[in-house]
Amino acid sequence: MNWKQALEGMNPYKPGRSIEEVTLLYGLKEVVKLASNENPYGCSPSVKEFITSDAIQHEIYPDGYASTLRSKVAAKHGVSEDALLFGNGSDEIIMLIARALLDKGTNTIMATTTFPQYAHNAKIEGAEIRQIPLQDGQHDLDSFVRAIDNETSVVWICNPNNPTGNLIPSDRLKAFLEQVPETVLVVLDEAYFEYITAANHVDSVTWLQSFPNIIILRTFSKAYGLAAFRVGYAIGQPEVITNLNKVRSPFNNNSMGLAVAEQALADQAFIDHCRQVNHEQRQRFTQYAADKNLHIFDSETNFMLIEVPGDADQAAEQLLQQGFIIRSGNALGTPGYVRVTIGTEQQNSDFFAAFDTLLVVEGSAT
Ligand code: PMP
Repeated sequence: MNWKQALEGMNPYKPGRSIEEVTLLYGLKEVVKLASNENPYGCSPSVKEFITSDAIQHEIYPDGYASTLRSKVAAKHGVSEDALLFGNGSDEIIMLIARALLDKGTNTIMATTTFPQYAHNAKIEGAEIRQIPLQDGQHDLDSFVRAIDNETSVVWICNPNNPTGNLIPSDRLKAFLEQVPETVLVVLDEAYFEYITAANHVDSVTWLQSFPNIIILRTFSKAYGLAAFRVGYAIGQPEVITNLNKVRSPFNNNSMGLAVAEQALADQAFIDHCRQVNHEQRQRFTQYAADKNLHIFDSETNFMLIEVPGDADQAAEQLLQQGFIIRSGNALGTPGYVRVTIGTEQQNSDFFAAFDTLLVVEGSAT
């Protein structure tokens, strides 16, 4: 068959190990998944109640315009309804952006290391990928500016960045946006926005009027605890949204996903609670790393990238045998580190105890 040439040498997405798989493989009673930055506190109790109700009409197609969720999200952000696009997770929106704007002859700019779906989708579209190395876990925005030329179509900024967790200070990001030509779409992927506690952080939605070439991505998969339902959204200028709608499939969100996202949005007290407890637990990770003399990146998310002694794959395997699924930095482009989702207080205490065993093996326990 005549597959696109760009697919040559590419691999399908390889998900991390599932709880079921690890439970069987190692005969463990309890396995904790701290690999994909889901919310360890689940979702709002009102969502759980809704799911068990009979509220969805299964036989009819979903609302392809996501009307009720759209009006609530628009009200929350103080934007017009036509400034919103809903996707099957923000993953799908990343794909739609690449499909609508990238092609042979264009180029696209992103950090390395960052969320891999930007490069993955750009490659499929045949665009040239320009990757700018992080500096101390931070986007090197000056080099981004230098990399932009007449063929640049999309710039991807993961903020806070996955897998480092670093947040770009708002004044630096704004100064960067001022230097980007209006013909270049700047994607601000803010999947972890709800976890940010940094002082002086400016909500980028307030920049939409001054920078019509930005699009902001948010998701219900992380703090809202709805990863299984696949609902993400983009906020941008109506003209940008209209063009992306041209490449969107008609019923890309299912009815249950749209309905539970609406329920979850209404419970902002749950989000505030999760932000607060996650912040407390984040500080425990920072303290743990300091006590053990291990490097850890500053994170404004619900995950931490922490140094391990020895090879990261081996460390991940040892943690797996103790019932913790985390991500080895080798697969993420950050060898020498593992990325771990911040769990509940108890999960984290148990995780630190398991991590201690790595340090004993290496003879560097303190
Ligand atoms: N962007 C970033 C930075 C992410 O970490 C993730 C999830 N790992 C996504 C986008 C995609 O999230 P979803 O498709 O579940 O909304």
